[in-house]
Amino acid sequence: MYIDIHCHLDVEQFEKDLGQVIKNAEQADLKVILTNGTNSDSNKAALKLAKKYDLVRAALGIYPEHAHELDVDQEIEFIKKHKDEIVAIGEVGLDGIDKTNFEEQKKCFQKMIDLAKELDLPVVIHSRKAESVCIEMLQASKIKKVLLHCFCGKKKLIERAAKLGYYFSVPTNVVRAENFQSLIRNVPITQLFAETDAPWLSPFKEKRNEPAFVVESYKEIAKQKKMDPEEVKKSIFMNWQKLF
Ligand SMILES: [Zn+2]
Repeated sequence: MYIDIHCHLDVEQFEKDLGQVIKNAEQADLKVILTNGTNSDSNKAALKLAKKYDLVRAALGIYPEHAHELDVDQEIEFIKKHKDEIVAIGEVGLDGIDKTNFEEQKKCFQKMIDLAKELDLPVVIHSRKAESVCIEMLQASKIKKVLLHCFCGKKKLIERAAKLGYYFSVPTNVVRAENFQSLIRNVPITQLFAETDAPWLSPFKEKRNEPAFVVESYKEIAKQKKMDPEEVKKSIFMNWQKLF
């Protein structure tokens, strides 16, 4: 009963063989795959995929880099209309790599936090190179149900977010990324999830990532926590039931 808590099944890398990818996930004993929307088209695609495959659930959001190029309020209306078909708001947040439209990113992010609160859904956060601003905004909003995807903040910030009760998901490239290995050690198992961020962040070099590979994150969590792999599976499944 594995869960891939964050990936992108609607992208072109899966266009040719998504059916097979889902089969691989079933065979690997995945029970849930949470695909995340990033803009209008991607949100529509996520809803379709969730309808088509039992295993797939949808999160709808606006990726920070798209915040300035679409009508945010219109997208929010779309999400509200489909609130019963989704389990989270995501992927949303801030990306500080290109700060050209950072103010627009912040405005959009705040609206998405407010939306998640209004709908009482967890919010899935992207926070690359903007980790502290993200935590500031989340804390100020008093939102409780937060999942920090691929979080690269420093140890102090990780501890602060963990104290706030936020959840973290460990991506599959953890097999070679020391920062995520130490994140596992610094966050209680009751606040951890595993993700692939497929098709990206593969655990295997030169190979496209897919939900079935989430098993590699689980293995690393068991190793870093010195836990029995079965216990890790059970704990993460309980986290799923609690947060979603
Ligand atoms: Zn993502």
